[in-house]
Amino acid sequence: AQPVLEIKHLKLHFFTDKGVVRAVDGLDLTVQKGEIVGLVGESGCGKSVTSLAIMGLVPKPPGKIVDGSIIFAGQDLTKLNNKQMRQLRGKEIAMIFQEPMTSLNPLFTIGNQLIEAIRTHEKISKKAARERALDILKKVGIAREGVLDEYPHQLSGGMRQRVMIAMAMVLRPRLLIADEPTTALDVTIQAQILDLMKSLNEEFGTSVLLITHDLGVVAEMCDRIIVMYEGQVAEEADQRRLFKNPAHPYTQGLLKSIPKLDEQKKRLYAIPGQVPSPFNLPAGCRFAPRCEFAMEICRKEEPEIVKVDEKHFSRCFLNQKEAIDHGAHERS
Ligand code: SF4
Ligand code: MG
Repeated sequence: AQPVLEIKHLKLHFFTDKGVVRAVDGLDLTVQKGEIVGLVGESGCGKSVTSLAIMGLVPKPPGKIVDGSIIFAGQDLTKLNNKQMRQLRGKEIAMIFQEPMTSLNPLFTIGNQLIEAIRTHEKISKKAARERALDILKKVGIAREGVLDEYPHQLSGGMRQRVMIAMAMVLRPRLLIADEPTTALDVTIQAQILDLMKSLNEEFGTSVLLITHDLGVVAEMCDRIIVMYEGQVAEEADQRRLFKNPAHPYTQGLLKSIPKLDEQKKRLYAIPGQVPSPFNLPAGCRFAPRCEFAMEICRKEEPEIVKVDEKHFSRCFLNQKEAIDHGAHERS
């Protein structure tokens, strides 16, 4: 079947006074129908820019898509104008953010905002829209009707996040993009919100692209995980393979830095060094300055992404031998 989303060799650069930032630099990413895909990396790796590119929300200029395509439901989003994108946003592709107050209007009640969102895209009566609003609120775990008459500031952070998910899901989009949806919440609420997203995914068949800096967050949620570093895919694998058998030194570092419940007292591992300046990427492998396995070749040549196992790809010279053993260089 055709994927819901297929990003092909996307290059999105920012042309600034200080120079060119290659924020997304040859990204391939697919999301199948009903799939939950995690897009993971440190801040500045290009994951949020990718989500804005899908939504058509990258300011141009200074941003510019210089290569590649974003195919959604059979059409290339990079070719649509603002009006066409507006029709897709909310209805076909919805997005939720870390801070719900950026997408909830403080001046209107929850009911007003939900009903308005429904009626912008569908011709139905206010009464029918109100029923639909109550129904989706129930599905996100808010059963009391009175919430329709409340304002966002009257709700707790966790409740606001539920309302935002309700707003995103009420039109049953094909794709939900969630950018750090739980980062601002405490651990218990975080787990509840992730559970909720998973159950909505199961009930509606909505595909989810979950963007986070935290591999721990994607561990339970995602079918497939894509690790991004400096605008490129460093590693991609299904959930089980990525956690059991990470191939890329960067992924191995991220996994070591996940806090474990029984090791709370130990200092958390941090990947040494800093993310390189986007104006001044290192020659060769972009991870080389921080990589404990870096070899001579790593500082001279850029590694290609290679297949290391079924549905498992890594961009590292260490993996090239495994790739040859598997008899495949190409992502397929
Ligand atoms: Fe490290 Fe070299 Fe692999 Fe880059 S290619 S991740 S520097 S071993
Ligand atoms: Mg971000």
